[in-house]
Parts: sequence; structure tokens; C-alpha cells
Amino acid sequence: MTAELICVGTELLLGNIVNTNGAYLAKKCAALGLSMYHQSIVGDNDKRLEETIQTAVKRSDVVILCGGLGPTKDDLTKEVAAKVMGKKLAEDKHSRERIQAYMENYVRSHPGTKITENNWKQALLPEGAIAVDNENGTAPGIIMEENKTILILLPGPPNELIPMFEDKIYPYLRKKQPEVIASEMVKVCGIGESQVETDIADLIEKQSNPTIATYAKTGEVHLRVTAKAENDKAARKLIKPVVRELKVRFGANIYTTDEDKSLECAVVDLLRNQDISLTTVESCTGGALSARIVDVPGASDVLKQGFVTYTNRAKRKYVMVKKSTLKEYGAVSEKCAKEMAKGGCFVTGSDAAVSITGFAGPDGGTEQAPVGTVFIGCCLKGKTVVREFHFGGDRSKIREQAATYALILLRE
Ligand code: ATP
Ligand code: MG
Repeated sequence: MTAELICVGTELLLGNIVNTNGAYLAKKCAALGLSMYHQSIVGDNDKRLEETIQTAVKRSDVVILCGGLGPTKDDLTKEVAAKVMGKKLAEDKHSRERIQAYMENYVRSHPGTKITENNWKQALLPEGAIAVDNENGTAPGIIMEENKTILILLPGPPNELIPMFEDKIYPYLRKKQPEVIASEMVKVCGIGESQVETDIADLIEKQSNPTIATYAKTGEVHLRVTAKAENDKAARKLIKPVVRELKVRFGANIYTTDEDKSLECAVVDLLRNQDISLTTVESCTGGALSARIVDVPGASDVLKQGFVTYTNRAKRKYVMVKKSTLKEYGAVSEKCAKEMAKGGCFVTGSDAAVSITGFAGPDGGTEQAPVGTVFIGCCLKGKTVVREFHFGGDRSKIREQAATYALILLRE
């Protein structure tokens, strides 16, 4: 089944409120296994809302509207939805009683307020519609079933919409849509997105269930394998062989299949498992690498010390880079990165050290080493390797890539 979302409110169009209901409902529909191909935001305007609902009911099985169910004149969702479905509005006794009870209670607990006439508008329901009780407000939700189309109207305030959806709408849709969606994540690092896509072009070509979606991040590609089935177990069974195949194709480039695990977390785990202590020696990243490592709870098992040796003087003083190296090759050089890593190990006595030195720009750089040139060194138990990178983007992007590739190098 397909689902479509229409969020109503001029405030949304103006950016005065963030469409958190949209994100919430989209996630819930995905979890229900409903395919969502369209979402719209419409202002509080009857003509445009009518057009939008008309289009939606033609192309989608389930249309969910949120907002505009309140008592005021600009709340027109129900009136317009009824018009599109060719239904008259009539008072629903049960809803009227609930609104009365809610309002009386409200007036009691808010001295000086009184029940206004416009509240009764919320007890009007399109003919044949189902009222969904609102435990946290006055406007009931509304379900209309008409010629295979399901139209669901929900109140805008999240504290009303979310409990109503969780308790009543979700179970209702679950019955209508017995399939579930499950997904698994495979996180790859050190290969670009286009390479990843090329490597699995055949899998993507023949995919239908499960599907594979790729998301590129700096230095990483995340692959989400998603399957639909009658229950979670059956969906996982469909996913399993695809994940296995991805493992065969990307091997050591996969750093985790855990959705919540970051690259830095995988690196900390790896070093901890091998009982390797680490020192970072950073220049252009200014501590960004050690900050990412320290973000991981339990990083103290692994990280011994972090240096930010930004000036040449600091590189000499704290990690013993040779004066002659700086003079002959400069700070952004393979030789300097190597000495930084070696020095990091030596002065702290840690098993491994990683060094970063480069030109993050916008100024600086040389003919041989233009802005974006970054050398990353890694010293492990006396052996040092250095990689040269040429990153694109602005200063922050270059620094972010440098820290990410240092983590990738550490994994190797
Ligand atoms: P009310 O009875 O409060 O008028 P309503 O169903 O008519 O409710 P709206 O008037 O459209 O809903 O919105 C009421 C409030 O709910 C907004 O001011 C906003 O705070 C919140 N809201 C509405 N739509 C959204 C949305 N899509 N995402 C997040 N919050 C929303
Ligand atoms: Mg309103």
C-alpha cells in the first residue's frame, strides 16, 4: 500500500514551525511497510488544500493529513476533506460529549476561561467517518474509508498527534497493512560512493525485495538493505543473504553492521580488543581527531594522549620533529608526518600514534603541496606508514576529511 502525507499550516510554509509531525509520521509509515512517494505542505487555504487532497486520494491508498482540526476559522482540513470525499458534516454525539467533558475540566482548572461556541465545530464529522478519541485535546482524529482510499485526519499539536497515532492509528493501519519492513545497515569506509555503486551495480539492478540504498558520508558509504515481508523474521531472512554478499564484496572495508556504531567507535573497539594504546599528534585538524575518539564512551581504555602541535616550534618541542626536516621539506610533508607519528609514540610510550599535517586553506599551500594536501602518518610498534591525500572543499571540509581518513588509516 502507498501512503501520502499532507501537513497543513501556513506557519509551516513560512518556516515558523518545523515540520516534526511530517518526520514522525513518515518514519511510522515506513515502519508499517507503507510506501511513501509524496509529501506536501499546504497553507491554511481551502482552494489549494482541496487541490492537494484531490491529487493525493487519486494516487495513494492512505492519505494522512495533519493540522487544521482546531476550533478556529483558519482550521479547514475537515471541511475541505469532507468536500473532496463528497460528504456532509454532521454532529457526532460521542465527540460532543467528550469535548464538553474536556472543556469543563479545562475551565475548572483555568479560572477566568469559558467554553466558546466555536469549540462545538470540532464535534462535526463527515458522514460515515470514524471519530478517533483525542486524549490530550478537543479535536478528535478522523478516519474516512471510501472506495479503497483511507483518509486520516490528525490534530496538529504533537502532544495530541503522537499519542493518538501510537495508540489508535498505528494499530488500525497495522491491520490494514499486515506487511512489515525491516532493514539492516552495512557501513563501509575508505571507498567512494561511486565505486561502491559500481561494485554492486548488478545487485542494485536486480533488486526488488530487499532493496539496497546507499548514503554517502565523508569517507564512508552506508548501505541500507530493506525488505518487506509478513513478519520481522521473514523480512530478516530476506535481508541476510544480501548482507552476506555485501560482506564478500567489501570485506575489510566494512567497519560495522551496527546501525548505531560510528567509525570512531569501531576504531576504539578495534584498538581495545588488541590492547593497543594510542596517541594523536594533530596539526591542521587542531584536535578534531582526538575529540572524535573521546566522543566514544570508554575511549580512555585506548587514548593515552593528544597533541595539537600547530606551529613548527611545537612540532619540534613536543614530538621531536627535526629542525632539518622542517627546513628542508616543510611541515606539510611525508617526512614531517612520519616524525610526528614516531615522536608521538616515543614521548608517550604508547603502542601507536597517528599524525596529521596538511594545508586546510583557504590560504597557504605550496606548488608541490597545494591547499587540501594532507599527510597522515601512523606508527605502530616501531613501523610507520604515511599516506598523502588531496582533499577538496573548504577549510572545515578538509579538516573533517583529514580526521576521518586518519580513523580509516588506524583501522588498517
Ligand atoms: P489546534 O486545535 O491547536 O488549532 P490544529 O489541529 O488546528 O490544532 P494547527 O492549528 O494546524 O493544528 O497547529 C496547531 C499547533 O500544532 C501549531 O501551532 C504547531 O505548534 C503544532 N503543529 C502543527 N502542525 C505541525 C507540524 N507539522 N509539525 C510540528 N508541529 C505542528
Ligand atoms: Mg488550529
